Amino acid sequence: MKIGILGAGIAGLSSAYFLRNSPHNVQVHEADTRVGGLARSFNWHGFDCDIAPHRLFTDDKELLAEMLALVPMKEVRRKSRIYLRGKWIQDPVNAVEMVLKFFPFTSYNIVRHFLFRKQYPEDSFEALVLNQFGEGLNDLFFKPYSEKLFGIPANQISAVWGRRKIRVAGLRDMLRRNSRLYFKRFYYPMQNGYGATCDRLYDDVKDLVRLESRLVAIAPKPNSDGYICRFETPQGTIEEEYDQIISSLPLSLFAKLIGLKLSLRFRPARITYLLVNRPRATDNHWFYFADKEFIINRVAEFKNFVENGPSDKTVLCCEVTDVDRWSLDEVVKELAEAKILNKEDVLDSMVMDIPHAYPVYDLAYEEQMQIAQRFFVNHPNIHHVGRHAQFAHKDIDEIFEEAKRISTVIMDRNGAVQAAPVGAVHDADSGAAVSLASARGAA
Ligand SMILES: Cc1cc2nc3c(=O)[nH]c(=O)nc-3n(C[C@H](O)[C@H](O)[C@H](O)COP(=O)(O)OP(=O)(O)OC[C@H]3O[C@@H](n4cnc5c(N)ncnc54)[C@H](O)[C@@H]3O)c2cc1C
Repeated sequence: MKIGILGAGIAGLSSAYFLRNSPHNVQVHEADTRVGGLARSFNWHGFDCDIAPHRLFTDDKELLAEMLALVPMKEVRRKSRIYLRGKWIQDPVNAVEMVLKFFPFTSYNIVRHFLFRKQYPEDSFEALVLNQFGEGLNDLFFKPYSEKLFGIPANQISAVWGRRKIRVAGLRDMLRRNSRLYFKRFYYPMQNGYGATCDRLYDDVKDLVRLESRLVAIAPKPNSDGYICRFETPQGTIEEEYDQIISSLPLSLFAKLIGLKLSLRFRPARITYLLVNRPRATDNHWFYFADKEFIINRVAEFKNFVENGPSDKTVLCCEVTDVDRWSLDEVVKELAEAKILNKEDVLDSMVMDIPHAYPVYDLAYEEQMQIAQRFFVNHPNIHHVGRHAQFAHKDIDEIFEEAKRISTVIMDRNGAVQAAPVGAVHDADSGAAVSLASARGAA
């Protein structure tokens, strides 16, 4: 059997890793000149840099042990903050601290709106927040940050996003604070940045990976269950036939290549790296700018994850999703306003554009996912693994686990395990896979 894996980010690499000793013929096609995708690292001015802050948190002990066996990592106590209306507050937000920090007028509003909040049908992110916290906290924090992240009004953001991100609805959720949102400790590779995991996987599957091989067309092979794929390579266009496909490509792109139009959107990000002439800028691993007026969403200081690079300098990595408003001057000005640095401290800068950073959970998203599910249920030999392929804000450990599961399904086609439907999202609290619509086989 021939298995074609599309993309060599963590999804494609870990799929190849789990299939490498199978009797099947496995080939990975990666469009770029290097592997790792969003989870790669690189060295800049002697510092190991990631694409925005990356860290490993999982409460699955078996999975953690498996990932730590790949790459030695150190356990780190999380330090992160939020800059809001000129004050530093805890991350994740704590309603009691907000009331104390923004005393008296904003606090009064938070408490009044909370006590007398109306209940709305939970049909959007904003409705969910208003029901749980009221207008005060919504206007102060949830609405501006989410609108900045997705670039659409909060009442146009799907409630699915809210259910994944806001889990402080009651005592039950308070008790679950050691969740994907509330984790207090995380793991980070001792050397070479977070990308060390992808590098390690690549070491084991290098022979299976073809770089600079971009999928440009895919069609079912007549009279068979397989597919004919066309790739653009530096040597020209090539065609390959595969019996099974594992795709980590953005779902809307893959759908288009196979003839399905989906209007799923991705929010791009522009990442600005700054070399700063200070031993350290902060003691945080990452911090957020929550106000909508600030173009920066989040900043990471890599030196705080693991000591590396020149001792007298540091690197800050600033993430901006409102790319139309981006300018280097503005990024530096905002950091100066928060007293992180002075303009003269910036010795060098570098910008990286990420066209697919965040799947946008708008109100049409659930319907579009159902269209995708109805289409792909007729293609049981195509498997979607990864953040963009499953259109879900997945973390690396979730993708690693999913790749392992899909590989098992492929190796044991007659087994009882069912492949995940497109759009199955992982509920970080319950640990259960939740299908947005009908599961495979039920449609
Ligand atoms: C800002 C930010 C912060 C994050 N922080 C964390 C974190 O702290 N912890 C965590 O676990 N996760 C984090 N993540 C998520 C994590 O980076 C991603 O979930 C993961 O890297 C996605 O891997 P992937 O393989 O699914 O996709 P990608 O990494 O996007 O890989 C897809 C690959 O497919 C290739 N490709 C694209 N088109 C084609 C084509 N036509 N033909 C062939 N190849 C193609 C691409 O070049 C790419 O290499 C973060 C993500 C972002 C954006």
